Amino acid sequence: MSETIYFDNNATTMTAPEVVEAMLPFFSRRYGNPSSMYPFGGETAKEIRRARESTAALLGCDPKEIIFTSCGTESDNTAIWSALRTQPDRRHLVTSRTEHQAILSNLPLLRKMGYRVTEVGVDESGRLLWDQFLEALTPDTALATFLWANNETGVIFPVAEMAEACAERGITFHTDAVQAVGKIPLNLAATKIDLLSISGHKYHAPKGVGAIYVRRGLKFSPFLIGGHQENGRRGGTENVPYIVGVGRAAELALANLADEKTRVRSLRDKLEKGLTSAITHTRVNGGGADRVPNTTNISFEYVEGEAILLHLAGQGLCASSGSACTSGSLEPSHVLRAMGVPFTAAHGSIRLSLSVHNTEAEVDQALKIFPPIIAKLRAMSPFWRGDGPDPGGRLTCETGACQVCDP
Ligand SMILES: *Cc1c(COP(=O)(O)O)cnc(C)c1O
Repeated sequence: MSETIYFDNNATTMTAPEVVEAMLPFFSRRYGNPSSMYPFGGETAKEIRRARESTAALLGCDPKEIIFTSCGTESDNTAIWSALRTQPDRRHLVTSRTEHQAILSNLPLLRKMGYRVTEVGVDESGRLLWDQFLEALTPDTALATFLWANNETGVIFPVAEMAEACAERGITFHTDAVQAVGKIPLNLAATKIDLLSISGHKYHAPKGVGAIYVRRGLKFSPFLIGGHQENGRRGGTENVPYIVGVGRAAELALANLADEKTRVRSLRDKLEKGLTSAITHTRVNGGGADRVPNTTNISFEYVEGEAILLHLAGQGLCASSGSACTSGSLEPSHVLRAMGVPFTAAHGSIRLSLSVHNTEAEVDQALKIFPPIIAKLRAMSPFWRGDGPDPGGRLTCETGACQVCDP
C-alpha cells in the first residue's frame, strides 16, 4: 500500500510524468522567445501553437479561441472584467450562490463600483433554481457567470441550456469549467457559451497555468495590457514551459476521458456507497443531482470535518473539508449553506475527489480507515447519543463568533 492516498484532486492534481517530460527542454536549451524573428525563437512559437491546438481539441473549439493565462483565477477575472469593459452601459451581473472564490471575491468590489449583482440560489441537491435564473436576466445584464461543475460537490449546472437562454436575450455567458474539463466531454462549438475558464493544475498540468476560451466574434478587452502576445489579448511573454505542459495535459485528458467516465466513476461510487452504508447518519451532499464522476461530498453528522481530516492525515489519506476553522469561528461552506444543509451535517462534511491515478486498492483502504475514525470522534462528541434515530442534540456555535450559521 502506498503511504499516501491522494483523494483531493479537486484541490490540485499530480503533474503527470508525461507533462513534466514535455516541459523540461523549455527550461534549458529551448529558451527562445516565441516572438523572436529567428528560428531559435520561432521553434518555441510552434510548440505554443501545438498546445493551443491540443487545448482546443479538449474543449471542442477553434485554436484561435484559446488564450493562455497564468491560472483559473486569472481566466475568471478576465471574463468578468472583459464583459464589463466591453459593455459599459450594462450595470448588472448574474451568478450563483455556490461559485468559487475566483468569482465570488469580485462581487464586493463590483457592488462598491455600483454594479448590481444577483446571486441565484440552488435546491437541496445543489441544482440551480431555473426560474430564479431566468428571472434574473435583464436587458441591463452584462454577464451571467456560472460554474460548470461545483468544486465542493461536483454538481453540474446545465450551462449549455443556460447559455442558450442568455444568447436569446443578448447576454454574455461565462462558465468556470475548471472542475469540468477532463472529467466530462466538452464540445464548445455546439454551445452558445461565450467565455470559459480552465486551470491546468486541475487536470495534471502544473500550478500556474490556465486558459480562457473566447468565442470567435465576441468583443474582448484584455485583463493584462501589454505586448502583442496571445494575438494582442494577453500581454506578457508567454510562459513557454507551462503552456507546453498544459497542452500535453490536454492531450492526456482527452485520451483519459473514457476512463474517467467509467473506472473513476465506479471507484467514486464504491467509496461513496461503502462509506454511507458502513457509517450511520451520513448524507451525500449533491447526491441527488447530476455530478462529475470523480467527486463525492459526504457529511458525517455530529463530528467536525476538521477533526476527521486530521485523523485521516494521520493515516496518509488526503481529503478536504467543507468548513474552515479559522480564528475560533467555524464557518461552514457557503456551498453547503446555499443547499440548506443543516448545521450538524455541514460541519462534518468531507470532500473526496479522485483522479485517473487512483486505484481500487486505495478505495478499499479508505473504506477501512474511515469507520473507526468516525466512531472515535462521535464517542467524544457531547452531542452524540448513539446510533438511534435521534442520535444527538443540535450543534451550536460554541464560540458564538460564527456569523454565518443559523442561530
Ligand atoms: C481551482 C479552481 C479555480 C482556481 O484556479 P487556479 O488555477 O488555482 O487559480 C477556479 N475555479 C474553480 C472551480 C476551481 O476549482
